[in-house]
Amino acid sequence: MSTEPVTIHPAERLAAKRLADAFGLPSFDPGWVWLAGAGPGDPGLVTLLGLHAIVQADVVLYDALVNETLLKLARPGAELIYAGKRRGKNSCRQADISRTLVSLARNGKRVLRLKGGDPFVFGRGGEEALSLARAGVAFRIVPGVTAGIGGLAYAGIPLTHRDTNHVVTFLTGHGSDGRLPEFDWVAIAKGSPTLVFYMALAHVGEIAAKLMQAGRARDEPAAIVGDATNSAQSVRVTTLEQLGRAAETASAPALIVIGENVRLRERLDWLGALTNAKMLHPDARMREVS
Ligand code: SAH
Repeated sequence: MSTEPVTIHPAERLAAKRLADAFGLPSFDPGWVWLAGAGPGDPGLVTLLGLHAIVQADVVLYDALVNETLLKLARPGAELIYAGKRRGKNSCRQADISRTLVSLARNGKRVLRLKGGDPFVFGRGGEEALSLARAGVAFRIVPGVTAGIGGLAYAGIPLTHRDTNHVVTFLTGHGSDGRLPEFDWVAIAKGSPTLVFYMALAHVGEIAAKLMQAGRARDEPAAIVGDATNSAQSVRVTTLEQLGRAAETASAPALIVIGENVRLRERLDWLGALTNAKMLHPDARMREVS
């Protein structure tokens, strides 16, 4: 969460390697592709296996949502290739990324494909893995903390809570044609008290309207969690009815969460409490004390 510049010394890289050895983690062999999640932003949320991969890789293809601080762990001389889709002219097509992964692996490189969050959650990791499988390239999937889980934890919103929801649903607001996917809104509205949307900022007014038409209450709490787990994290709590308006001034990346569990943030905003140098009272009710 710190905004201080980070310097990595060879000793730290070695420490990561030793730790990986101590745990008997698999070696990253030449000619392999590791498809790994970097977590939602805070570098502390990368896994040990993810770190191990960064330290050993010959080439790292990383996405826009990967915290670039993590790349400092790559060994000197490792090739770092930006493969994100958010920077206009430099944006890469999915087919080009898959082709690059295959050709680097065939050239005997240790190829790390590093993606934000978890590689298999709304991140096209499945498509890339299928291309590798088709090409006969050996690969390993390294899971990561997905934004919908890590981001909500940093927002002080429990994903499930016995008093509010026994079900949670993760959805994307962005179909392959860029439009809102065609969901069965009545089933979603009835079936899952808590809904977590990825890539939904552009369509959030429409999403809220569909959910209200399908029976969800106008005053149900909802939150927009922007830049989750990063130092610029912002959380706006609103209602389903006001969600579209609240999203007008929000910027990507952001998660939308809808459900009664959002209300728990009032008492569980541990990060806000830290930032404001306040202490949460350690009793069961988590009353704030100054
Ligand atoms: N594979 C990623 C998701 C990629 S889709 C994962 O598992 O997290 C990209 C969407 O993820 C963004 O549009 C946003 O909705 C969400 N997202 C990713 N990182 C985020 C962050 N730090 N804060 C808020 N939302 C984030």
